[in-house]
Amino acid sequence: MSARRVDLKENSSWYCIIDVVNKLIRVENLTKIYGKGNTQTIVLKDLSFDLDNGESLCVIGPSGSGKSTLLHILGGLDNPTSGKVSINGQLLNELNDKELSAFRNKTIGFVFQFFYLQDYLTALENVILPAKISSETPKDIEKRAMELLGMVGLKHRMKHYPNEMSGGEMQRVAIARALVNNPQLLLADEPTGNLDKDNANKVIEIFDAVHERGVNIILVTHDEKLGKKFDTSFHVDKGALVNNHR
Ligand code: ADP
Ligand code: MG
Repeated sequence: MSARRVDLKENSSWYCIIDVVNKLIRVENLTKIYGKGNTQTIVLKDLSFDLDNGESLCVIGPSGSGKSTLLHILGGLDNPTSGKVSINGQLLNELNDKELSAFRNKTIGFVFQFFYLQDYLTALENVILPAKISSETPKDIEKRAMELLGMVGLKHRMKHYPNEMSGGEMQRVAIARALVNNPQLLLADEPTGNLDKDNANKVIEIFDAVHERGVNIILVTHDEKLGKKFDTSFHVDKGALVNNHR
């Protein structure tokens, strides 16, 4: 368990304290609506769930069901129309832009379907990039980045550029990059969606190893089979939660 100290407000209850220690994430009545009137699109419908520290979650749903929107809101990259998200007891909507950005950098790592590596940087430089703003010495950051590239099996490719790597390798660099700031939570959006079966399996094995290290993972996918590899999974359909497996 990796609970963090949180400054409790005066009116806190024991419930709140227990929540802070155990709950990684709490989502309450989350709704996201784009547009107005006739052009209105309801993307997320009154979604509620929670996740304990140490649990991993897979959200499964077809294309257009609202998975990316959900993940962006959980990671503080987008705002809900209504409802609340709290991480470690911290309500995301109570943070201003600067605080949210600092919270994100410290707590959350992102992995996307299309990797989004910088073409002009080597694998090692890509992994180091998100840590540039930290107060650590460049040497310490580089050491950790190399260790992470070792964990994803790519230490020998650290001086290579993305255009010299396969899709599977690029995704493994992207995972190392997502971990460089020691996040407590890794959010992954269809991370195997662009990979063949072998590379997809490798990526899932790495997620297992990352989870073993105590990082919580929330992965969204259209791939039913991935759900079985997670502590918890649920389906979303047209933005609504349809069933929950624990
Ligand atoms: P998924 O990741 O499951 O494929 P998304 O979260 O990307 O689903 O999208 C869910 C729905 O929200 C889709 O119907 C999409 O067209 C719609 N949508 C996403 N972003 C916007 C937007 N900025 N404006 C209007 N509709 C949007
Ligand atoms: Mg998506």
